[in-house]
Amino acid sequence: MSKIILKKSRADSLLRFHPWVFSGAIANIVGNPAEGDVVSVWSSEGQLLGCGHFQIGSIAVRMLSFDMEYLPDDFWLCAIGAAYRARKAMSLVDNPSTNCYRLVHGEGDNLPGLIIDFYDGVCVMQAHSAGMFRAKKQISKALQEIYGPSLKAVYDKSSGTAPFKAGLELIDGYIYKSDAFAGREQIVLENGHKFLVNWEEGQKTGFFLDQRDNRALVGSYAKGRRVLNLFCYTGGFSIYALEGGALSVDSVDSSAKAMSLVDRNVALCGKAGHTSFTADAIEFLGKCEPGKYDLMIVDPPAFAKHRGALKNALRAYQRLNAAAIAKVASGGVIFTFSCSQVVDKEMFAQAVLGAAIQVGRRVRIMGRLTQGCDHSVNIFHPEGEYLKGLLLYVE
Ligand code: SAH
Repeated sequence: MSKIILKKSRADSLLRFHPWVFSGAIANIVGNPAEGDVVSVWSSEGQLLGCGHFQIGSIAVRMLSFDMEYLPDDFWLCAIGAAYRARKAMSLVDNPSTNCYRLVHGEGDNLPGLIIDFYDGVCVMQAHSAGMFRAKKQISKALQEIYGPSLKAVYDKSSGTAPFKAGLELIDGYIYKSDAFAGREQIVLENGHKFLVNWEEGQKTGFFLDQRDNRALVGSYAKGRRVLNLFCYTGGFSIYALEGGALSVDSVDSSAKAMSLVDRNVALCGKAGHTSFTADAIEFLGKCEPGKYDLMIVDPPAFAKHRGALKNALRAYQRLNAAAIAKVASGGVIFTFSCSQVVDKEMFAQAVLGAAIQVGRRVRIMGRLTQGCDHSVNIFHPEGEYLKGLLLYVE
């Protein structure tokens, strides 16, 4: 097994359990590790710092242990078992009204590079590192042990997330299927609301589970309001608003595929008053008559995928929020979000402040929003807090 030796005084972050070793911190590599191999990491003084997955790139090692030189045979069962116990503590396991949740959230679950979402017995995994991709059979085996016969399938959807330069055979597909399972989509329950999830064709793992609590909050504000859900994807916020007693709900997404899923979800909920628009959300808002809506949801895709895009992204958030603040009715409410990891909550609040100044309306912040508890943040890796939102009241 290869060894990574760090430069002098570069061990501090690992001693504080930060899970990444940057390539610039490495003095020497003993051996010739392939991407995805487990390597051990040592300080310049020869102290063992743990082991993790090696990869070529700016993050050279994603740590899996801070005290072991090798991974023991039961590593996956223990690590994923810990994630499962944490979901139990969050009351997400065997919960009669919610049977979908994120089981493994990368660094938040001490498994950097791995995402697993659970949809009523179907686990959909996305590997963001070569090491996690290569461990997928062991991961699937651990899931079978943890869930037992209630596990219906394990689907690997890493083709869009694993590093494509690592020479891996990136073809999505089932790693495990129980005899009884034949589907490729499933109706799940979230806070008692039904949603159709199609992991094979949908974006990410099929559903944006991180917005669960914020969707419930939208439901509690919806009664008697005319709602506009921008960047709606499968209509999560729209369904909660309809069930919460909204007068009307208009949902907008540029993806026709997403809009057809919205229509199926609206049919499942059986409420009237919904209209779907396959359109560019920014153009839609531009053409919108002022005062037509008194609750807006603005949940765009990440505008900044890396630091270099930060400045333009902040301008784009300001423009989008200015348009929403300008158009919402008096006494209206806006749920506005950013899921860009490089935009922190202060920067996002600054962009929204800039928008309010630009428009010249009186705005108050009624709440600060974030991702759900199953997308928990490793305290030693604050970068993991990627979703931030503001609940605005516009006078
Ligand atoms: N609010 C959603 C998640 C949004 S993901 C939920 O709760 O599930 C972002 C969505 O924005 C994607 O569905 C994508 O298709 C859509 N999108 C991206 N650019 C867009 C644009 N310019 N106009 C409208 N929709 C857009």
